[in-house]
Amino acid sequence: MSDTRRHVPRTDAVLAHPQIAHAMCVLGRATVKATVAAVQEQARAGRVAPDEVVSVVLASLPERATTLSPVVNATGVLVHTNLGRAPLSRAARDAIDVATGSTDVEFDLATGARARRGRGALAALAEAVPDAEAVHVVNNNAAALLLTAMALAGDADILLSRGEFVEIGDGFRIPELLGASGARIREVGTTNRTTLEDYRRALGERTAFILKVHPSNFVVRGFTASVSVAELATLGVPVVVDIGSGLLRPHPLLPNEPDAASTLRAGATLVTASGDKLLGGPQCGLLLGSADVVERLRRHPVARALRVDKLTLAALEATLRGPAPPVTVALETKEDELRVRAERLAKTLADEGIDAEVVRCHSAIGGGGAPDVELPSWGIGVPAAWARELRTGSPPVVGRVRRGRCVLDLRTVAPDDDARLLAAVRAVHHRRKGERTWTS
Ligand SMILES: *Cc1c(COP(=O)(O)O)cnc(C)c1O
Repeated sequence: MSDTRRHVPRTDAVLAHPQIAHAMCVLGRATVKATVAAVQEQARAGRVAPDEVVSVVLASLPERATTLSPVVNATGVLVHTNLGRAPLSRAARDAIDVATGSTDVEFDLATGARARRGRGALAALAEAVPDAEAVHVVNNNAAALLLTAMALAGDADILLSRGEFVEIGDGFRIPELLGASGARIREVGTTNRTTLEDYRRALGERTAFILKVHPSNFVVRGFTASVSVAELATLGVPVVVDIGSGLLRPHPLLPNEPDAASTLRAGATLVTASGDKLLGGPQCGLLLGSADVVERLRRHPVARALRVDKLTLAALEATLRGPAPPVTVALETKEDELRVRAERLAKTLADEGIDAEVVRCHSAIGGGGAPDVELPSWGIGVPAAWARELRTGSPPVVGRVRRGRCVLDLRTVAPDDDARLLAAVRAVHHRRKGERTWTS
C-alpha cells in the first residue's frame, strides 16, 4: 500500500467531523456517505490529498436534500409552468412552514373532536367569492374537471363546443380528460362558430350538463361566434364553466379573462379553476357553485383520491387572506417603476465594464392565460451567449433570448432579487473574462 493510500482518512473519522455531521442532519446519512466514499476513492487514486478529503467532501455535497433549485424567473412570463407556475407569497410560505408539522387541519382543538378538513382555506375561498353557495378544493383544475364529470355525468353526455376542444399542454386535452371519466362528450357547433341553437339541438335525455371551457391559451379571430354563460343558463341544464386561470373577480388589466364571481352571477352552476395561475397560490383546483352540486362532488368516492394536502390548504388560505401574491404584484407593477429599476441595474453593470444595457420588452401572463395580453416592461440585455451560463449559475437565472441579446425582464423578478440578479450577471462576466485571459 502506498503512503498516500494509508493516509486517506477512514470513513468514521470523516463522518465525525462537526461540519460533516451537520451535513448529515440536513442531507441524510446515505447522501453524505456516498460523497465521502467517492472522495476517498479520489484520494486513493492520488487526485485528492489525504488532508483535503474533508474540505473536498464539504465542497461536493449538495446544498439541500432536494435536487430542485430556486430559480430567478427573468423570462417576463408571470405564470411560467416550467418554472413551477405562481411563486408563493411570503405569507403562503410561512403558512406552509406552520403546517409542515402536526397541525389541526382536521381537528378542533377546543372540543378535541374531528373537524372539517381545511375549513380555514374553504372559508377564505367562500368569503372571497360570496356568489358561490359552496366551495371545494381538489388537487388541480384537471382533477376538478374529472371529479365534476364523474359525479355529475357518469356515463351520460357532456355538451362541449368544438371551439372549446382545448389542449392544455404537454399533450393533455380536456375532451380526453373528460372522456376518461366514462362520460360521453357530445360535440356542439363548429371550431369557429357555435350558437345557442346548436346547444339546443344537442340537448337530450342523456345530457348531464353543458361545459364551457375558457380557451385560455389561444385566440380565435375573424368569423366567430360563441354563446355566453348567461344564454346557456336559459337552457334548463346545469352549466359548468372552466374559467382556467383562477381570477376570482374582474381585473382591469385582463378585460378578456373570465372571473369566478361574474361567471357565477351570469348563471353558472359550477365554476372550476386553477389555484396556481392568476390567483397566485399553490397548485390546486377550485370548485365554486351551487350547494347541492358541490356537496355531490365532495361526497363522490373519487373526491378522496383528489384531495389536497395540509400544505396546500395552508398556502391557499394565506394567499386568499394575506397580502397580494407575487403574480398580482408583477401584473400590477407600473412600467415606470420597472424602467427606473432597469436603468439602475444596467448602469451599475455598465459602470463595471459589463456588456449590459436597458431594454424595453413585453411580459406575458403565461400558464395558458390571457394570450392576447402583452404588458409593457423593462429589463436588462446581456449577450445571448450568456443565457446558458446564467441558467446553470447559482442561483440559476432564466431569461429570454431575443435578437442576439439575452433579455432579463424585471417584471417577474422580485425587487428583493435584484442583488442576486446583479451577482449572477457579474459572475458570468468575470468567468468569461477569466477564461479569455487564461487562453490568450
Ligand atoms: C390551465 C388550465 C387547465 C388545467 O389546470 P391545472 O390546474 O393545470 O390542472 C384546465 N383548463 C383551462 C382552461 C386551463 O387554462
